[in-house]
Amino acid sequence: MTPFLPTSKKEVEALGWDSIDVILFTGDAYIDHPAFGAAVIARVLEAEGYRVAVVPQPNWRDDLRDFRKLGVPRLFFGVTSGSMDSMVNHYTAAKRLRSDDAYTPEGRAGQRPDRAVTVYSTILKKLYPDVPVVIGGIEASLRRERHYDYWENRMMPPILETSGADCLIAGMGEKPVVEIAHAIENGEPLKKEYFGAPLTTEELDRIYDLPYTRLPHPRYKGKRIPAYDMIKFSITTHRGCFGGCNFCAITAHQGKIIQSRSEESILREVEALTKLPDFRGTITDLGAPTANMYRMGGLDRTICEKCRRTSCLFPNRCKNLNHDHTALLNLYEKVLKVPGVKHAYIGSGIRYDLFLDENGFLSEDGRRYFEELVVNHTSGRLKVAPEHTEDQVLNAMAKPGFKLFERLRLEFDKINRKHNLKYQLVPYFMSGHPGCGMREMDALSRKEALHGLYMDQVQDFTPTPMTVSTEMFHTGKDPRNGKPVFVERDILKKQQQKTFFFKKH
Ligand code: SF4
Repeated sequence: MTPFLPTSKKEVEALGWDSIDVILFTGDAYIDHPAFGAAVIARVLEAEGYRVAVVPQPNWRDDLRDFRKLGVPRLFFGVTSGSMDSMVNHYTAAKRLRSDDAYTPEGRAGQRPDRAVTVYSTILKKLYPDVPVVIGGIEASLRRERHYDYWENRMMPPILETSGADCLIAGMGEKPVVEIAHAIENGEPLKKEYFGAPLTTEELDRIYDLPYTRLPHPRYKGKRIPAYDMIKFSITTHRGCFGGCNFCAITAHQGKIIQSRSEESILREVEALTKLPDFRGTITDLGAPTANMYRMGGLDRTICEKCRRTSCLFPNRCKNLNHDHTALLNLYEKVLKVPGVKHAYIGSGIRYDLFLDENGFLSEDGRRYFEELVVNHTSGRLKVAPEHTEDQVLNAMAKPGFKLFERLRLEFDKINRKHNLKYQLVPYFMSGHPGCGMREMDALSRKEALHGLYMDQVQDFTPTPMTVSTEMFHTGKDPRNGKPVFVERDILKKQQQKTFFFKKH
C-alpha cells in the first residue's frame, strides 16, 4: 500500500511503476479520507492489487497536459465531478455563481468546469478514443436518466450520451468498480450501467479499514481545504437513508437500505483518529445521512424486498420498521470510553419521528436516546430540520407534521430543566419548495411554537436532478397523485421567500 496514490509522473516513477492500471480524474482536491469518493475508489482498487493514480482538478482550459501527463492506463480512466454535482457546487439556488469552493485548496472557486463529468470524459475520449472511460459519483449517478436541469431550465439527455463515456456506475461504486476492472482485464464486454447493491457489514468494514492517511495529498503543502476541515474529525457509522424526503438525492444515490459498520470497525477508526497530531479529543460528527438510523431497517426483510414505498416513515411509520436505538446508544457509550476522546458530537441530522410521536416517546430506548443525545452529544445547540410548519408544504416534502416538532421542543425543554442546561434547539427550514408561497412563509414566521428559538437557518430549495421535488418544480404536479402543486419559479420571488423569513425574525 502506498502512503498516497500518485498524482504526477514524478510520483509514479518514485514508486518504480512501469505502468498504471487505472487513472482517476476528480473535480475535488485529492484527500485520502473515507469521506471522499475518489479516495475510497482508489484504495479499493489498490486493495485488489491494481496500480491506481489520481488526477485531482485537472486543468481543462490549457493544452490539456493534465489529461496527458500520466499517459494511457492499462485498464480504464475513471471520472467523477467530486463529492457534489458540479452545478450545485458552482451555483446558488438563485443561479448566482458562488465565490468559493469548499473542496479546493484555500476554498478557491473556478478549479473545475461546469458539468465536470461531461467535460473531463469528452476530453479523454477525444485524446484516447480506445481507452474505456467509466463515470461515477453523484453527478453521473443522478443524471443517468433523461432529467430536468434547473440551470438550463430544460430536460437533458442521460449523461452517458452527453459525456461519450463507455459506462456508468450508479450509486456507491466500490463493488461495481472492481467488477468493471475484472471485466476489462478478462476481455469481457462492458455493460452500459452498473449499480451499487447494498453492502454487508463485513464489506463496509473492509472499505473503512483500508489504510487511508486521512490527510490531503502533500502536493497541497498544508493549504487549507474547507471541506477537509469540516470532516477530518468525523466518522461515518452507516450509509443509506429510509426517510425518503422528496427534495433529497441521498436515497437515490446511497439507497433506502441502511448499511451499518460494525462497532469494532468504528472503534478502530476512532482510535486512528485519536493518533492524528492535531486531534484534541473532539469527534465533530459520529454520523451518516441520518445519524440515528444506525442498524435500523425492516423487522421482516422478506416484506421489505417486495416493498415499493419510497419512505419507511412517511406518510406514517411502517409497522415493519425496527426503530430501536439500543445499538446506537451502546456505540456512543463505547466511543466515549476510547482513551483520548473527550466528546463525540452528532453533527449530522436526526429523524425525531424515529423515537417520538405527538403523544411522546415511542419507547424507552427512544427516550434514553434523545436524552443522551442532548446531554452528551451536542455542543450546546441541537440542530433539527422540521423544514416547514405548514401541512401542505410538509406533505409536498414528505416530512412529518409540525406538531411533532412542537412535541420535540417540549421534551427538549424538559431535558434542559432536568439537567440544569441552557442548550438551544435550532430548527432548519426550507423556502421556495413546491407548495410554498409567501402566505406559507408568513404563517411559518408567525408560528408560536418557534418563538424564542434561534432562527437563522433557512435554505432556498434547489431543484437537483432526480428528486420528486424537482419533478414537482418542473411539471407543477405532484407525481404521487397527479394533482397540481403551486410552484414559485420566479427567481426573485423565490429569493424573497427566504428574505421575508429573515425580516420577520
Ligand atoms: S416494509 Fe416497511 S420497513 Fe421494509 S422497506 Fe417497506 S416501508 Fe421500510
